[in-house]
Amino acid sequence: MTRALALAGLLEGRSNAERGAAVARHLASCGVPFVRHAFTAPEGRGESFAVDLGSGDRVFVLCAHHDAVPGSPGANDNAAAVGILLTLTERVAIPAGLRVRLLFTAAEELDYLGARAYVRDVGVAGIVGVLSLELCGIGDSLVVWDATEDTGVTRTIRRALESSGLKHDEGYHVVGRIPRFGSDHRAFTAAGVPAYGLTVVPSANADALRQFIFHPMWGALRFLVRRPAPFDTYHTPRDALATLEPRALDLVGTALAAVIAELG
Ligand SMILES: [Zn+2]
Repeated sequence: MTRALALAGLLEGRSNAERGAAVARHLASCGVPFVRHAFTAPEGRGESFAVDLGSGDRVFVLCAHHDAVPGSPGANDNAAAVGILLTLTERVAIPAGLRVRLLFTAAEELDYLGARAYVRDVGVAGIVGVLSLELCGIGDSLVVWDATEDTGVTRTIRRALESSGLKHDEGYHVVGRIPRFGSDHRAFTAAGVPAYGLTVVPSANADALRQFIFHPMWGALRFLVRRPAPFDTYHTPRDALATLEPRALDLVGTALAAVIAELG
């Protein structure tokens, strides 16, 4: 079992309170300093955790929400992403001048409530870009999404992925706004920061996924019985740790290390 997968296992199948506590407990046990951000709103409450790696003035935020929808073990959504980010505290080198903020948010499943509260309370000063990891545990091809136009950040990501051997429209895809899903990065987009989602999909399902995601009505009918992976387990009781693919988590970890290096 890869390290990221083992760390995802700390959250999978637990209540949301336990998932958050597991992240804090793990960071504390490793001696990693973190800042707590608690929030209360009419829609819900929770606690997010921020870890700063490096000490530069330019801040690049990597988000992974630690909550899950009720009734789902929440392995691919989103324990896998949490596990991947936790491994970055153990091994990644941060270039001078850069600060990488790992933001483990609560209540993403309530319309990004934790991320919105964070942006409201902490602000976005110094933040040059954001990637929010969603569904990072199944597949072999990266998708950077909500990239409606090229920015300095998308160009940096492209260069990083190319330099790690991935090819455009094969090993990685950069796509525009996704109509039926969202993630924490949209709280930062709303504040004017270049911010995108990062997901892994099985390349064999690329066409089916395009239909499913970009043509909601037609996709809903066509995929009434079985959605294409990774959406076949998304928000269901079947989103279990056993469905995760170690190589998918490793792919994302390697890609993030390349992006961080390229940001230097
Ligand atoms: Zn999610």
